[in-house]
Amino acid sequence: MKVGVVGGGQLGRMLGLAGIPLGMQFRFLEPAAECPAARLGEIIRTPYDDPDGLERFAQDLGFATYEFENVPVQTARWLEERVSLAPNSRALEVAQDRVREKSMLRDLGIPVQAFASISSVGEIAAAVERVGLPAVLKTRRMGYDGKGQHVLREGSDAAAAVQHAWEALGRVPCILEAFVPFDAEVSQVAVRTRRAGGGAHHAFWSLTQNEHRNGILWKSEVPAPCDSDGSLGELARTHVARLMDDLDYVGVIAVEFFVSRGTLLANEIAPRVHNSGHWTIDGAETSQFENHLRAVTGLPLGSTAAHGASVMFNLVGKLPLSSRVLSQSGAHLHLYGKSARTGRKVGHVTLTAQDPAGLQQSAAELAAALPWDA
Ligand code: AMP
Repeated sequence: MKVGVVGGGQLGRMLGLAGIPLGMQFRFLEPAAECPAARLGEIIRTPYDDPDGLERFAQDLGFATYEFENVPVQTARWLEERVSLAPNSRALEVAQDRVREKSMLRDLGIPVQAFASISSVGEIAAAVERVGLPAVLKTRRMGYDGKGQHVLREGSDAAAAVQHAWEALGRVPCILEAFVPFDAEVSQVAVRTRRAGGGAHHAFWSLTQNEHRNGILWKSEVPAPCDSDGSLGELARTHVARLMDDLDYVGVIAVEFFVSRGTLLANEIAPRVHNSGHWTIDGAETSQFENHLRAVTGLPLGSTAAHGASVMFNLVGKLPLSSRVLSQSGAHLHLYGKSARTGRKVGHVTLTAQDPAGLQQSAAELAAALPWDA
């Protein structure tokens, strides 16, 4: 069976690596001249909204999916009319707009921080009144890895500070969010598929604790140290199941949460395989990439059970010495075939062990040896 993937980055590459053993063939829609997925299948090298490129991409495809959330919604809708596309275009639309995303989460009863939309100078005073300071001003669209954001600390004239930040962001539609003094950041990676006879099947990987540096994910850890009694994981599963059911979602989703005052506040939805789920390749019975493809193509899901404990580190900006990484017992190295450049994710390393306590020491040693250029 042939699966089309919109996007040919590292997530597309890892989808290909997971699907080929299942007998799947891949076609990627990717405008960049060189891309990490290049050796994993056929590449249609055109812009994401090029009608001719889309025709060639969709020809004889059984299934299609996407590996990044800024796919034009028109492209997703066009594909949806011709092939079986998952996740659906509604999930994409919601995730592309931070105000729609937060409104939907709130309406589903999933707690979020206070927020307000700002599209004009006239909306600033009311937004500041509602949210207060400290706050974070973010562009509604196209933000990633902490880009397109300004943190506003408490000061004398909140409205003037917000206006200044809004102008610095280019006066584009923004969201003002209350700054959350979080104790930890976690994500819930999950998968949903439709059952043949009706209804849905959900599966969840372990709640993952994440640490960012310069707004970029640095470390993901399982089991999450902040969830020693498992209650946060239980709550995250309830929230994410409700969200997936409402979206009639098919495929892998990731929801990022802040842990604050012992509970969860949802921050962001990724309607795709996610960086904080990379540990599942080496640390779980079935990886997020394989289960995404199983869901998208209507195959039964595999177990999401974790094999002991895992810690994943992203490799950003510089490649490490492979021999150093692999000298660490339990280390699995994944390089994406990209040239190194400041701020660019070029690979990741996952350390796995049966016992979380044993992993701490080797994770600290490995972390000290890894380059980071953001
Ligand atoms: P985002 O693009 O929304 O995922 O934000 C990137 C990172 O910035 C998050 O992982 C947090 O570390 C931080 N951040 C974003 N929004 C907030 C907030 N409202 N309060 C505190 N920290 C935040």
